[in-house]
Parts: sequence; C-alpha cells; structure tokens
Amino acid sequence: MSTTRTTSLLTPPLRIGILGFGGLGQAASRVLEPKQEIAWVAAADHQGYVYHPEGLDPDRCIQTYHHQGSIGYLNPGGALSDRSIETLIQVAPGVEGYFLALPNLPNHFMADIAKQFIQSGWQGVLVDALKRTSAMELLLALQPELQAAGITYLTGCGATPGLLTAAAVVAAQSYAEIHRVQITFGVGIANWEAYRATIREDIGHLPGYTVEQARTMTDAEVAALLDQTNGLLTLEHMEHADDLMLELAGICRRDQVTVGGIVDTRNPKKPLSTNVQVTGRTFEGKLSTHTFTLGDETSMAANVCGPAFGYLKAGIQLHRRGIWGLFTAAEVMPQFVR
Ligand code: NAD
Repeated sequence: MSTTRTTSLLTPPLRIGILGFGGLGQAASRVLEPKQEIAWVAAADHQGYVYHPEGLDPDRCIQTYHHQGSIGYLNPGGALSDRSIETLIQVAPGVEGYFLALPNLPNHFMADIAKQFIQSGWQGVLVDALKRTSAMELLLALQPELQAAGITYLTGCGATPGLLTAAAVVAAQSYAEIHRVQITFGVGIANWEAYRATIREDIGHLPGYTVEQARTMTDAEVAALLDQTNGLLTLEHMEHADDLMLELAGICRRDQVTVGGIVDTRNPKKPLSTNVQVTGRTFEGKLSTHTFTLGDETSMAANVCGPAFGYLKAGIQLHRRGIWGLFTAAEVMPQFVR
C-alpha cells in the first residue's frame, strides 16, 4: 500500500488540455488550479489555441479570453486559428487527455470532433459532458474506430449525464429489479451569457423548439425568450443520455429513466435540489426508493468539471493499460484527482 502511494507521488502530473473555453472550460481551469496530479497545458476556443508545456495560468487565460475574445492572443504559446483544435492536436503532442467543454451544436458536433481526433493519429483520452441521447448514439457508432485508433473516450461525464447516472448505477445494487430512475435537476446561474451553449442546448429541449432552432437563435432572441419566462427554463422528459447509459450498463430499460429540471438564468441559487431517485424491488419483495441529493451549495460547474476530471484520470489509467474504445460514465468508476 505505502509503495503504491509513494510511486504515485513521484509520478509526473498528467498533462491535459481543455477544448472550449466558455463557462465550463474556464471553471475547469479553476478546478485544476490546486491539483498536483494534473497539469493543465493546452486549451482551444473557437478562434485560437494556447499550448504551454510548463502549465497555463487560469487568471491570464480567462482575462485574455474576456478582453480579447480568444486565448489565441496569449503570449507565449497562443495562436489564432480557424482550425484551432486540429492545429492544437499537432502542436501539443505531449497532451495525454482532453476535456471537451465544447458546445454540442449541431447535434453531431462532438462526434465530428471525435472523428477529427481519430484522423489525426493522436492517441490518448477524451472526456465529454455530452447530454443528448441521439448525440451519444453517434459516438457509440464510432466505438470500433476509436479503439483501432488507440483512443479511450469516456462520454457523458458531467453532472447529468455523469455524476447522477453513476450514482444511479451504485444505488441500483440494492435491488433485484429496477422500476424507475428519476433525475431532477436545479441549476442556478447569475447570467445566461456565462454558459451560452448550455442554455441554447436547454432551449432545444423546450416544447416547440429543436436543437437546430436553438443553435441559430441570436443572443437577442435568447434574451427575449428568457424575458418572457422571467429567466426560468422548465424542462420535462428531456432527451438525456442517462437513459441510454443506464440501459447499456444493464440497469434498466431506457423508457424507465426520466430527466427534467429547472434552470434559473438570473440567480446563482438553485431553484430546487438536484437529485436522483432509484426505485426498485429488493430480493425480499420490498419496494423502495433510494434518493441521492447534491448539496445545494454545489454549482453546475463543480458538479460537471469535478466528475469530468475524475473520469479523465480513470481514462488515463485505462489507456495506459491498453484499454481503448468508447465507455460511458455509467460503466467506469471515476477516480479522485488530488
Ligand atoms: P460556452 O458556450 O460557454 O462555451 C463554449 C466554448 O467552446 C467557447 O469558448 C467557444 O469559443 C468554444 N468553441 C465553440 N466552437 C468551437 C470550435 N469549433 N473549436 C474550438 N472551440 C470552440 O459553453 P458551456 O455553457 O460551457 O457548455 C459546454 C458544453 O457542456 C455544452 O455542450 C453543454 O451542454 C455541456 N454541459 C453538460 C452538462 C452535464 O451535466 N452533462 C452540464 C452543463 C453543460
């Protein structure tokens, strides 16, 4: 035991990158700041990228992104590019893993990014916080190609899907038969502009809206819609990949999983407590419900970025053991990044 600990302390930090530097990407850089085991060395946004093998400074990166519009303006290591991800993969060969904090707009965007990585010849670990079932199905179709390319891809590693889906897998173990998994989330953010993709993708779940409509809405149109609802988005029966992940993990059928919640875009206080309820029957024939509730003080960013890096660390262990291909957050246990 003590030998293992000593070895891990002497191991150099994992060198990782963040793709997408909006709300979640910036929060991810803050989450990594105190960590010893992971060094953040690369990032890309829509207009540029930055690579610094000695590590990046979140303050400078966030300031540059806000004042100049892209981390590509950072000096040294930054460059502007309209093919920022493709170029970064080439100039940063030492990066072992990436957190994809990218918008999934259009719905096949994340699958397209995975294909880019496959074609580049890069080998390592990719982790996303993808939400839609149909988007995850596109990634599942890439499983053989990811495996052949030497990429370990962990999908659905945010909060929901992610933390809550994994919690449902653990909770299900008390039962002989699972009847229902119900995920209810409350998200509070001070302003919608801090998480544009998240809010646009949520609008895509509202009755009468499609992902494509949400993608093409201008910022003014989003603001006008939020004005009508007093800043609240109420979401029911969402197309969320928790269902597919739990079905693939053998927990229950996808139609037994429901996901919904409320997003307040004008108040960082959660409008309700995020929870997952797992209902089933024990081997003695008792019907029961386990409830796992997240602390109200924890933000969306904490509940997405923490698990994403826990899964990234787990993915790197798998990759180093030659285990490649596509996995969901419901089939791998996240590790804790120190
Ligand atoms: P955001 O809009 O704040 O930021 C997106 C970033 O991606 C920006 O920096 C943008 O420049 C960059 N980007 C866009 N296109 C790019 C491209 N082609 N190449 C490189 N960079 C590009 O996004 P956000 O609100 O932080 O959300 C990110 C994703 O996280 C969304 O897809 C959202 O649905 C997902 N999310 C998941 C969960 C979960 O629990 N699973 C929770 C919240 C958000």
